[in-house]
Amino acid sequence: MELITSFDREVLDLPFYDEGHRALADSVAAWCDGGTALWQEVCESEPDKAAVRLTRQLGADGWLAFLDPGHGEGPRTDGSPAPHPGDLRAVCLMREALAYTEDLADFAFSIQTLAATPLIRFGDDEQKQRYLPGMAAGSLIGAFAVSEEQAGSDVAGISLRADRTEDGGYVLNGHKAWIANGTVADLYVVIARTSNAPGPLGLTAFLVPADTPGLRVRERLDAVAPRSFAHLSFEECRVPAEAVLGKPGRGFVIAMDLLERFRMTVGAAALGFARRAADTALARARSRKVGGALLIDQQLTKASLADMEVQLNASALLVARAAWEADRGSPRFARHSNIAKLHATEEAQRIVDGAVQLLGASGVIRGSVTERLYRQIRSLRIYEGTSEVMRLTIAGTLDARRADRVAHEV
Ligand SMILES: Cc1cc2nc3c(=O)[nH]c(=O)nc-3n(C[C@H](O)[C@H](O)[C@H](O)COP(=O)(O)OP(=O)(O)OC[C@H]3O[C@@H](n4cnc5c(N)ncnc54)[C@H](O)[C@@H]3O)c2cc1C
Repeated sequence: MELITSFDREVLDLPFYDEGHRALADSVAAWCDGGTALWQEVCESEPDKAAVRLTRQLGADGWLAFLDPGHGEGPRTDGSPAPHPGDLRAVCLMREALAYTEDLADFAFSIQTLAATPLIRFGDDEQKQRYLPGMAAGSLIGAFAVSEEQAGSDVAGISLRADRTEDGGYVLNGHKAWIANGTVADLYVVIARTSNAPGPLGLTAFLVPADTPGLRVRERLDAVAPRSFAHLSFEECRVPAEAVLGKPGRGFVIAMDLLERFRMTVGAAALGFARRAADTALARARSRKVGGALLIDQQLTKASLADMEVQLNASALLVARAAWEADRGSPRFARHSNIAKLHATEEAQRIVDGAVQLLGASGVIRGSVTERLYRQIRSLRIYEGTSEVMRLTIAGTLDARRADRVAHEV
């Protein structure tokens, strides 16, 4: 019997995916379906407790094993498929299923993956051996700290200083802002300014353990969708030269490499939220009677549900295409990653809003599925590149040669 999952089976059957991806999709969907008690528990927990609980559980059940590429290949401990290192289609499928099921599960999975990926891609052997086994097990929690209050979209404007010390190390002074897992992380990947070279040229990435003297949570933040979220402060925070990730002066490249890979996964999470909203709207329309007829039989309702379906298809295809481009090593994958993030997050917002509308008053009751989705979807149009920044970046990749071909017509 075919397993009913949160995924669109017709999309999964497209050649973007292979049998391994399809098996992974079934496996993660079954894990999500079987986790009702866990979802209930984390919904009732404080955000910090939920972040730790979920990261540990994801690790214990093998979903983070791919973050330690030396040891994480192959199936999970129970023999079922798991993501493979560097496989962005797998990361997207994981995020889609987790977001469909529980926002905080997607949060725990995505931030741990976000923090581990620069280590996997740019860390030396000693750094990988020190941190990745714990991150893969879920026992060591990571965070990625690039943003500052005056440097959000403008990453090149980072001002947190990392100056050389006499013993060859660095001393960090300044602030980071809006950091996911900020209150619970054991390890921060921090982008800091190490030289006066202009803009992006003077930035370096550092690995800073949370217990480093001088690093502290400056302020806990309460977002519309509660989660571990904080401003950080660095005061005379000393780290050895071995804390540099990659090469000095390559911090901007490391940050962009990560964001270009992850934007499509934000699109995948948006798709998961949107699909949950559309399923909820359809269920309601099939049961709600208005004026003696079911809501589903009204033409306006049909139009609303049809629009949702079209947009879900478009987002799923754009995410699949972007991840496939990245996995096959296409040099232009970042363009598709940006397109997928922009479209999927903007349309997910519309779909969630449409679902709230279709549910009427019951759609805005605190704690209901649609009310929670309404709060959860909002940040996705902001983090890892706002929609405006995505539009600017996509516009910068338009093909001038095609315009040249028709220039005589204008
Ligand atoms: C839930 C959440 C989690 C986050 N997690 C992390 C994290 O883990 N690590 C981290 O480092 N950061 C994190 N961030 C920060 C996030 O990356 C920034 O919020 C984002 O980059 C936008 O920066 P900003 O908030 O400073 O807005 P700004 O950059 O000030 O932008 C404000 C507005 O101006 C627009 N704008 C900016 N530049 C232009 C332009 N050139 N033209 C037109 N419009 C423009 C933007 O699109 C936006 O609408 C998180 C944010 C949120 C909401």
